Amino acid sequence: MKPTNQIYTGLPTTIFETMSRLAAQHGAINLGQGFPDLDGPLEIRLKAADELLNGYNQYPPMLGLPALRKAVAEANRRFYGLEIDPDKGVLVTSGATEALSDCINALIEPGDEIILIEPLYDCYLPLAERAGASVKSVRITPPDWRLDLDALRRAFSDRTKAILLNNPQNPAGKVFDRQELQAIADLLIEFDAYAICDEVYEHIIFDGRSHIPLMSLEGMKERCLRIGSAGKTFSLTGWKVGYISGPEGLLDPVAKAHQYTTFTTPPNLQAAVAEGLGKEDAYYQVLSGDLAAKRDRLGQGLAKLGFDVIPCAGTYFLTVDISTIADRMHVEPDDVAFCQKMTEEAKVTAVPVSAFYRQGKTGAAEDIPRQFVRFCFSKKDSVLDAAIDRLASWLDH
Ligand code: PMP
Ligand code: GLN
Repeated sequence: MKPTNQIYTGLPTTIFETMSRLAAQHGAINLGQGFPDLDGPLEIRLKAADELLNGYNQYPPMLGLPALRKAVAEANRRFYGLEIDPDKGVLVTSGATEALSDCINALIEPGDEIILIEPLYDCYLPLAERAGASVKSVRITPPDWRLDLDALRRAFSDRTKAILLNNPQNPAGKVFDRQELQAIADLLIEFDAYAICDEVYEHIIFDGRSHIPLMSLEGMKERCLRIGSAGKTFSLTGWKVGYISGPEGLLDPVAKAHQYTTFTTPPNLQAAVAEGLGKEDAYYQVLSGDLAAKRDRLGQGLAKLGFDVIPCAGTYFLTVDISTIADRMHVEPDDVAFCQKMTEEAKVTAVPVSAFYRQGKTGAAEDIPRQFVRFCFSKKDSVLDAAIDRLASWLDH
C-alpha cells in the first residue's frame, strides 16, 4: 500500500485527549485538558436553544452570521479601539483551531519560514509543517518567560512569511508586554512578514493587566490576523465557535481556506455568541476575577505541598516545577512519568509541559525541559480543594 501523509502518519494522539482518557480510566480529577467545569452564561445557552428550535438551521453565510460579524467588529472597537469592517474584516470559524488552520494555509507557500514560540500550543507545529512551512522556533524560559529579543531577531530571515504569536500564552500563562510586542512589530515590518495572533485568552488576563493585541500597534493592522474563541470567552469550549479579525485583503484568502475546510459554523451557536459578545463590562470582569482567584487557590495549595509554582498572568493554566518534589521522591524529574504516576496513584491528572515542545522525528528531542507540569485551574473550588487533598495524602506516603 502507498504510504499515507508523512506529517500525520504516526503522530501521537494529542496530549489533552491522552490525559483526559487516562484521567477517566483511573477516576482521577482532571486538571489536564483545559476546560471549565461550569458552563458559561445561561442566557447565551437559552438563546442557542431558542435559535435551534425556532430559528434558522440551514447553511448560514460562509463568512459567518452578519449579527456575529457585527458583534466581533464592535468588540474590537470596544475593547481595543480597533476599527474592523464587519462585512469584509471578520470571518467566523469552527473554533480557533480551524481559524489557525485557515490562516496558516492561506499564508504559507511550501518553503516559507514560520516562527513559532516554544513552549507552543500543540496544533501549531503539525499545521505549519503540513502547509509546507520550514519552522524556526524561539524559546521563552521560566520563571519569567521573557522573550529573548536577540534570538527572535536571529529567527527572522528574508524567507520569514509569518510569526504565530499566542498571547496570553498557553501553557506558560505569560502575557507579552508592550516592549516585546513592539520588538515583534518592528521585525515584522523590517522583514515584511505577517502575524497570526492566537488571542483566545484575551479576556482571561489577571491582576489589572489589559490585553494588548499586536494588531493595535502602529503599522500592524495590515499584517495581523487576530483570532478569538467563544469557547474561552464564554466558558463553552465544546461549542467550537471562533472568529478572525483582519484587513480585507489578508482575510480574503483565509476565507477561501475556510470555505473548503468547514464552509460554515452552526448558525444557532453563532447567534448566541453574537449576543454574548455584547455582555456588560461586569461579565468580563467577573470572568477574569473568578479565574484569578482560582489560580491563587490552586497555586497556594500546590506551593504548600512543595511544588515550585511559576507566576501566571493569564489563561487557565499554572505551570509548576516538579524538581523539588521529585527529589523528595528520589526520582528523576520526568514530567511524563510524573503525570502518569500522579494520575494512577494520587488520582489527579495534569499535563506534561514537554508535550508543548517540538519533538524530534524519533520522539523527544534531547534539550526539551522535563521538569514542568501544567495544571488547569478553571474548575469549581471544591474540585481544586479535593485535588490538593488528594495530592497531600499522596505526597505524605
Ligand atoms: N489556541 C490555544 C492557545 C488554545 O489553548 C486553544 C484551546 N482551547 C485553542 C487555540 C483552540 O481553541 P478552540 O477550542 O476554539 O478551537
Ligand atoms: N486548549 C486546551 C488545552 O490547552 C485543549 C483543547 C483540546 O483538547 N484540543 O488544554
